[in-house]
Parts: sequence; C-alpha cells; structure tokens
Amino acid sequence: MVEIQHHASLFIGLGNMGRPMAINYAAGRELFVYDTNPVAAAEVAAATNGIALPDLEYMPSHVRTVILMLPNSRIVESVLRTSPGLFKRLPARSLIIDMSSSEPESTAALAAEAAAIGIDYVDAPVSGGVAKAEVGKLAIMVGGDSTAVERAKRHLRPLGETITHVGPAGTGHAAKALNNLLSATNLAAAAEILSVAATAGIAPEKMLEVINGSTGRSQASEFKYPRHVLTGTFDSGFAMDLMLKDLRIATNLISQQSAEAPIVLTAQATAEKARELLESAQPDHTEFVRYYEKLNGTSLRAG
Ligand code: NAD
Repeated sequence: MVEIQHHASLFIGLGNMGRPMAINYAAGRELFVYDTNPVAAAEVAAATNGIALPDLEYMPSHVRTVILMLPNSRIVESVLRTSPGLFKRLPARSLIIDMSSSEPESTAALAAEAAAIGIDYVDAPVSGGVAKAEVGKLAIMVGGDSTAVERAKRHLRPLGETITHVGPAGTGHAAKALNNLLSATNLAAAAEILSVAATAGIAPEKMLEVINGSTGRSQASEFKYPRHVLTGTFDSGFAMDLMLKDLRIATNLISQQSAEAPIVLTAQATAEKARELLESAQPDHTEFVRYYEKLNGTSLRAG
C-alpha cells in the first residue's frame, strides 16, 4: 500500500504584517498559525480555516514549511534555536522562510546551521507595508541558494507582486535594510522641503502637488504624506522603532564596508534624535515628520 504524505505549513508572527500575509497565504493549504498573542492567533485561525497553536511545543510532525514574520533577529534566533528550538523539531528537507526584517549576519549564521541539518533556509523580507500585504502585492527580496529559493517561490507567490533573488542567504535582509534607509531619507528630505515651503507661505498640500508632478517625488511624497501626514492620522502600521531597527542594520553595513554615505547616515542620526523627542510610546514611523514640525514651528498637515 502506498502511504500518501501530506505536508502542512506553519506561520509564526501575526502582527500588522503577518496577519494579512497569513490570510493570503492560507488558500489551498493546511495551515497552522502561532503568535505569543493568543488573540491574534485565534483571529487569524478563524479567518483562514486554520488551527492556532497554543504553543510551538504543539507543532504537528507533518509541518514542513515554516514562515516567520517576527519583530527582530533575537526573536527569530530564539524561536529556531532555543524556545522551543524549531531546528531540533523540524525534520530534514523542511523549509524555513524568514520574511521578517532581520540582520544579515544572523541570517547567514542561521542558514548555515539549517544547511548542516538538511533544512532549506531562505530570507524573504518585504516592502510595501500593510496596504500591499493586504492585497498580496508586496515586493519580496530573497536571499538563499538557488534550489531553496526555487522551492520557496511557490510559498511567496500569493504574497508578492515581485520576487527578486538577490544572492546568498542574508542578502535579502541586507537589501531590505538598505532600501528602508533610502525610504526613511526620502521621508525626512520631503519633511525638510515641505517645512521650508510652509515658512515661505506655500501650503504643504500645494507643495506636495508640485513635487508629485515633478522630479522630487518619491513613495513618501506620493503615498505616505497624503495618507498618513496631511491627514494627521500617522497610521501607516509601520512602527518607528521597527524603522530604526532597519536603519541601524543598514548603517552597520555601511560602516562594515567603510563606504562613504554622508546623506543617509545623517538621516539615520536625525531619526534617532527624532525618536527621543517623540512623546508617544509606540510612534508610527511617519511621526518622524513631527520632529520637523517642532524644529521649524510649522504644521505639515492639510488645511
Ligand atoms: P508587529 O509588532 O505588528 O507584529 C509582530 C508580531 O510578532 C506580534 O503579533 C507579536 O505578538 C509577535 N511575536 C513577538 N514575539 C513572538 C514570538 N516569540 N513568537 C511568536 N510571535 C511573536 O510587527 P509588524 O509590523 O507586523 O512587522 C513584522 C516584521 O516585518 C518586522 O521585522 C518588521 O520590521 C517587518 N516589516 C514591517 C512592515 C510594516 O509596514 N509594518 C513592512 C515591512 C517589513
């Protein structure tokens, strides 16, 4: 008699990003979900016809693919190495995809450990925020060896519009941090220009209209300002502390490579200063703009 094997997937980390991603990933799959916040896990399980694990200790033995969408490398390391140590629990030929924005060096080390026990490991961080996560149109940048990456693509397609294989394990995470440093620089640079425009009597919404029809435009000016700044809502769903984590990863890379990058390094230093001055406990990354409002005594809100 031929035994039919079926394999399941496990999605860990169901926050602002993981929740909509797990929902898009679920179609046609047997899915287990886990988050240290049991309410988040129960809600995603209900939305996906999946099963919420009360603890990773209960991971079923037929799970072969694990997707991580966690806050940082320390947490990724602990889930894989120690509590509960998925490296010890997953059988050989399993696949781990870390979609969190993690540290490239940590990722390269985890990928080497995984390879030594026959597990495929791929880093696949994303760009596009909650809005693109909800519609399954994230930009996904992938690090890993070609066989593992080819295997991972089937799992990434429901989540992304573009899937770019950058290079070996860790390079996806390096590319992600560098992109976010540029993105934060664009956000800050636009705040500076809008502040000067405001002091010269040009309203922020007018100046943005000009920028967005001109060469100074960026994703920040086209989307972040109209949706989250002019409205005064500051509700992008991407925390300033997560942005700062990315900026530190990127600036570490710059110093490791001894590269000259004065403008983006200044953007990082300015973001650190802004974070110290912000009063909210968990500011959204778009609140970086509030620092400039204080500095210049101008409002960058509409009307
Ligand atoms: P979030 O804080 O909203 O979600 C993180 C989730 O992980 C939470 O639900 C938390 O309870 C859970 N968690 C923490 N420790 C855990 C553990 N040990 N085991 C299981 N679950 C645990 O964060 P987010 O905004 O969804 O970001 C997740 C990752 O994606 C981060 O690495 C972030 O930098 C990256 N990212 C975020 C955005 C965005 O727009 N929010 C965009 C791109 C990338």
